[in-house]
Amino acid sequence: MATGNINVSVENIFPLIKKFLYSDHEIFLRELISNATDATLKLKHLTQIGESKSEYGTPMIEVKIDKDNKQLHIIDQGLGMTSEEVEKYINQVAFSGANEFLEQYKDKVEDAGIIGHFGLGFYSAFMVADKVEIITKSHNDEPAAHWTCDGSPQFTLDAHDKADRGTEIILHIAEDSTEFLEDGRIGELLTKYNKFMPIPIKFGTKEETLPLAEDAEEGATPEKITVDNIINNPEPAWTKQPSDLEEEDYKGFYRELYPMQFEEPLFNIHLNVDYPFNLTGILYFPKMTNDMSMQRDRIQLYQNQVFVTDNVEGIVPEFLTMLRGVIDSPDIPLNVSRSYLQADGNVKKISSYITRKVADKLSSLFKNNREDFEKKWDDIKVVIEYGMLSEEKFFEKAEKFALYPTVDGSYLTYEELESKIKENQTDKDDKMIILYASNKDEQHSYIQAAKDKGYEVLLLDSPIVSHLIQKLETTKEKISFARVDADHIDNLIKKDEEQLSKLSDEEKDKLKGDLEKVVPAERYTVQLEAMDSDASPFMITQPEFMRRMKEMQQTGGGMNMFGNMPEMYNLVVNTNHELVTQILNTKTDKKKERLIKQSLDLARLSQGLLKGEELTSFIKRSYDMIK
Ligand code: ADP
Ligand code: MG
Repeated sequence: MATGNINVSVENIFPLIKKFLYSDHEIFLRELISNATDATLKLKHLTQIGESKSEYGTPMIEVKIDKDNKQLHIIDQGLGMTSEEVEKYINQVAFSGANEFLEQYKDKVEDAGIIGHFGLGFYSAFMVADKVEIITKSHNDEPAAHWTCDGSPQFTLDAHDKADRGTEIILHIAEDSTEFLEDGRIGELLTKYNKFMPIPIKFGTKEETLPLAEDAEEGATPEKITVDNIINNPEPAWTKQPSDLEEEDYKGFYRELYPMQFEEPLFNIHLNVDYPFNLTGILYFPKMTNDMSMQRDRIQLYQNQVFVTDNVEGIVPEFLTMLRGVIDSPDIPLNVSRSYLQADGNVKKISSYITRKVADKLSSLFKNNREDFEKKWDDIKVVIEYGMLSEEKFFEKAEKFALYPTVDGSYLTYEELESKIKENQTDKDDKMIILYASNKDEQHSYIQAAKDKGYEVLLLDSPIVSHLIQKLETTKEKISFARVDADHIDNLIKKDEEQLSKLSDEEKDKLKGDLEKVVPAERYTVQLEAMDSDASPFMITQPEFMRRMKEMQQTGGGMNMFGNMPEMYNLVVNTNHELVTQILNTKTDKKKERLIKQSLDLARLSQGLLKGEELTSFIKRSYDMIK
């Protein structure tokens, strides 16, 4: 038997390993299964190129809990190690890895931005075990070796009678880590990290009911057999070629990824590059709701089919973190902080590759089946609009397929919209005025007024629309967006002929004075306008700029100065309306005041501004008036 000292710079590295990786103890299992997988894949390669006499067969990896002895076993049928190799790979290589790792991390424990803790490898076993054994037999028919280490830098290495090829790692689980002796806990970890690893992983057994034979007698009980419980799918869809997959396969894989998700994805994007970086994966567009914060962190990041994290911030552009699916790339550095990650050249390339693929997919969906694309628009618009706002490259591409729905349910591209309105929807400076509504019910009367004049009205109701509008106004030439209730339409859009006012200048002055005596000046600016006699007599509007700035602030960004400003509105009064003339000609002040109050309240009611006590007294006053 050989004993020895592991060459360590710190006297006892194991307590340190434990301490450093305090919150991430569970990754030991991922590391050990990764090693078992590597060992099996290496053997496969050697047998394929004729450098091993061993029969590859159909190897699997087994995870076994021995609760009575407080042991966890990870067994593989990979290439194994000779005792010289144990000396080299475990005592030197693995250890230098652990040493390096600690060196790298000792000042950065607080850096919450570290993704996972890849790279610690074999020694992560000591996070949960106070003694570790390796029993291993090399594929090159040499005597098996038995290595033990109890957590101090001393180890023992002697012969063993293991007869079959491969490696068994035995963890003597420490007192504070007995959770890892529970079936439930290990099962959970296997599902989290190893669900798609390339070598079958067995964890216990399960009962399976055999189908009854064709000629079985009536009432015969089907036979039950015990089979290995394989926890993984070694060939997940993303590792295959798109040409080998049907629509149904993609949907099936989605269900495999998100078993609790009952809604089907809208469509998918298969990623597959090997130069200048290596990346595969499948992204899915789920149905989006307007609540954007709900849907983050659903894309899973893998490295060679090993799960790493479901936080892909920094790797996938932010607007795409609302998607779902899998990305697998060995070229993403994982032992670095987020800020470093974002500066990494490969990661930048990956991020822009993904953006491009998503844009291309959307563009082909739009071109190949516009009708279907329009149907999906409401479920995907948040992602697209967010992308247009945050990624210049995406904005350029989205120009072609981003849609602008109208209140009548048709969907226009920007180009189509432009050609529809450039003739008759411009202001006095020939700027195109794009009218929009955000809520068909609340803004009904304003929408109606605009439609009566033959104008196109968009329905833009996503939560970030004010930002998008702002962006379009600064990117495009000579356009301006106005919500239907932002101003009176006749003030916005140039008309061929001016309406003449029925009132003289003196009458207008008097009317204005009368109105201003009653209408509270701190909330409403009175504006007299000559309009059609059948247009509304009183109308409340809110200047576009002010309202939009407030909205933008609520959804992040925008200028801060508007947040605390009181709401200001315009009260637009149609001087050509009969009621207005009537008010002007009313003799008693009291009656005049009542008419003005009632009119103001009706205008407020139509904007949804009349609430609570004011609404109650308005209704009471109205009953009094009609009784
Ligand atoms: P890494 O996997 O990054 O090389 P590890 O610390 O995980 O680092 O493992 C160190 C080395 O020990 C491996 O490179 C491999 O040569 C050897 N090794 C570990 N586990 C096994 C195993 N199950 N079968 C064969 N060799 C193994
Ligand atoms: Mg390893």
